[in-house]
Amino acid sequence: MSLIEVKNVIKEYETAHALRGVSMNVEQGQWLNIMGSSGSGKSTLLNIIGGLDTASSGDVLIDSVNIESLSEDELALFRSEKVGFIFQQSHLIPYLTAVENVMLAQYFHSMADEAEAEEALKRVGLGSRLHHRPSQLSGGEQQRICIARALINSPEILLADEPTGNLDRDNTKVILELLKSLHSENHFTIVLVTHDPFVSKWGERILLMEDGHIVGDERI
Ligand code: ADP
Ligand code: MG
Repeated sequence: MSLIEVKNVIKEYETAHALRGVSMNVEQGQWLNIMGSSGSGKSTLLNIIGGLDTASSGDVLIDSVNIESLSEDELALFRSEKVGFIFQQSHLIPYLTAVENVMLAQYFHSMADEAEAEEALKRVGLGSRLHHRPSQLSGGEQQRICIARALINSPEILLADEPTGNLDRDNTKVILELLKSLHSENHFTIVLVTHDPFVSKWGERILLMEDGHIVGDERI
């Protein structure tokens, strides 16, 4: 059985049809990239899988639980227990240090643990930047904090929306190599959205989206 099952999901906004009937499954431990041009519905699909948004119709089953039928409180619990998010913008708290930003995510989940947060930052290569604030770090380093923050509570699913969208090629490679090694160590499931063919080649499978539809599904 698949970890993520999306069944005929439609998402309509007043002015747009973002998803026009999307069905897809993701196996536990798979790294799936969703690829498509701007406006094709990638972020909408990712947000619905992560319980940040709800479908107009259709079902989304995560671990056999239909998250479309959860209350706001239940969805918040689902997100905090099961999902880690990385976005194009880092969304770090500017006046907190790297380690404090990671501890904040621990705090919202359960309990802050400085030693564990430091360990997570060391794993993403930021052992010498623990007490720097975001403005004192490069874009690539900030995105590495986001990876540490997203994975600190050991989520089953990592959702990443254009995580390298603000980075140059060299930093993009560093981030993707890092994700690759963390993924092979920890076997969490990755769903990553990108419009960049270079990025989509990482991982195990590419779903192609066009105008609210899935139009391709390729194993790498
Ligand atoms: P992508 O991530 O592939 O660029 P999105 O999922 O963000 O695409 O958007 C898909 C379509 O839905 C676009 O036409 C976009 O304008 C529209 N859309 C996305 N979010 C909203 C919203 N909150 N309100 C209205 N339209 C939206
Ligand atoms: Mg998007």
